[in-house]
Parts: sequence; C-alpha cells; structure tokens
Amino acid sequence: MSPTSTPESASRNQDLPFELIEVVEVSRTEIEVVADMERVVCDRDGAVATLDRTPSDDRPMPTLPRDQRIVITIDGPAGTGKSSVARSLAKALGLDFLDTGAMYRAAAAIAIDHGIPASDAEAVVRETTKADLHFDWMKDPPTILAFGKPIDHRIRSADVGEIVSPIATIKPLREHMVRKQRIIAQQHPRLVTEGRDQGSVVFPDAAVKFYLDASPDVRARRRAEQLIASGHSADLGSITAEILDRDKRDSSRADGPLICPKDAICVDTSDLAFDQVVRTLHRHVLAAVGR
Ligand code: C5P
Repeated sequence: MSPTSTPESASRNQDLPFELIEVVEVSRTEIEVVADMERVVCDRDGAVATLDRTPSDDRPMPTLPRDQRIVITIDGPAGTGKSSVARSLAKALGLDFLDTGAMYRAAAAIAIDHGIPASDAEAVVRETTKADLHFDWMKDPPTILAFGKPIDHRIRSADVGEIVSPIATIKPLREHMVRKQRIIAQQHPRLVTEGRDQGSVVFPDAAVKFYLDASPDVRARRRAEQLIASGHSADLGSITAEILDRDKRDSSRADGPLICPKDAICVDTSDLAFDQVVRTLHRHVLAAVGR
C-alpha cells in the first residue's frame, strides 16, 4: 500500500470520528485484509484512511433513538470506575443509570443505624424491606431513599464500606435486590446498570454486557486519589489490602459472585484514561445496535 493522500478524499473524511493519519489507495483484497485491524475505514471509492486507535476527545457521542429499549450491564470489581463510567455512558447515550452498589450500601447503612449485626440476616432483610428503597430519578445521578428519606451521603461513609460486603452475601437480601432491580428495568427500559452481578445474574439477556477490570495496584491508586480529592487521607497499602479482600469476598460468595459473564465485552482499564473507557464502551454499544 503506498500513501497517496489526495486532498479530495482527505476532505471527504474530515467529519470522521477519528484522527486521520494518512490516506492510501489499496486494492479490494487489501481492504479485506486491513479491515480486520480496526484501524482503517474505507470510503465508497476504495480509499482507505489509516486511523489512530484512540479517538479524539472532543468528538460528539451520539445518543440512541428515544424509542430504543436497551439494557446495558457493567460488571466488575471495586475501583475499576464502573459507577462513573456507567453514569457517563448513560448520559452520552441518553439512557437512565442504575447504581446497584448504592442499594447494598443502603442495606448496610440501615443495619448499622438500626443496631442490627450483619450476622442477623433475617433482621437485615426485614428492615431493608420495610425501608422501601427507591431512587429519585429526577436527580442526576439518581439519589437513593430509605424510609422516604435521601441517604446518598450516609451510604458513602467508612462504616458502611466496612460491612457492605458481608451484608451483600445474605442470600434473601440479594433476592430482594434482584427483584427490585428487574422492576426498575421495567420502569426504565433504557438503562445502563452497574454492579457485580448485573450481566451475570440479574440481566442475563441484556443487549450489551461489559466487564471492566484493572490491576489491583491501579484500582488502589485511583481509590486513593478519589479519597484525597474529597479531603480524606489515604494509605495505599491498606487500600490495596481492602480491595483484594473485597475481591475475594465478592468472587467467592455463593450467590451472585463477581465473575466475567461469558458473553461480556472485557475492557481492561488499567492503561486507559476515563474518557477513553467511556468512548470505548460507547463505540461497542453503537456497533451492537447496528449504528
Ligand atoms: O459498587 P460499590 O462499591 O458501591 O458496591 C458496594 C458493595 O456492594 C460491593 O463491594 C459488593 O460487595 C456489593 N455489591 C454487590 N452486588 C452488586 C453491587 C454491589 O454485591 N450488584
């Protein structure tokens, strides 16, 4: 393939959502060979543009048509940025966003505030059911309410973080949450939902499933940066240990363990900036719905 950048074909490709590196003339066979490389796009005349794999940052991300019903799941361990990515992806596509971790955190907060130990599964489920957890969808992101009151600040406290994993192993509590999440998806049929079990258990038939991962070191560093940015102190060693401990608990529990669903698109975010992750997922969704 010899580079033959022509001003006409280059200008025709100016509105492409990629950075144009060079334009070359190729034969049909060559197009078929390079088409697998994800780095090229060809126009009707057979000119092929070689593309930078990283899309430029200011490219607009199209929303999905308003009548498109779609559930997109994002599973993955702590610290992969699932919540922020899911929220941004939902916003870019014009969909609603469900943070299922907030529901388990709410159950943990309710247990603590009612003096119920995590070991008393029956009381945890009883009180959480009474609390009638639901989201205020008028807020961005939606805020969670228990007993009719917003508890979004409460659920981010350190004491909640400490017991949420054991709370989340309670089988009837998980069943309660799964039922609620499926009802939410009926009421919000254009949804990006994130959590440990969304693609694997709750929405096995979701149109697009993602599994986000990153190395424990990267996840711990991101968590420490978040804590420092919000005015807290952070000890990298103990954060790494906490992340590994949570991974172990979440992956080894009997119900809804953290696994990569077999038909999920796995994205390792270790070396990707936040915006690159959102754009990667966005591109996969558009491809999956044929746009
Ligand atoms: O995502 P977040 O860190 O807020 O989740 C808190 C905890 O809730 C997780 O560590 C996990 O134990 C539990 N969880 C879960 N299933 C989900 C979402 C969260 O078990 N779908």
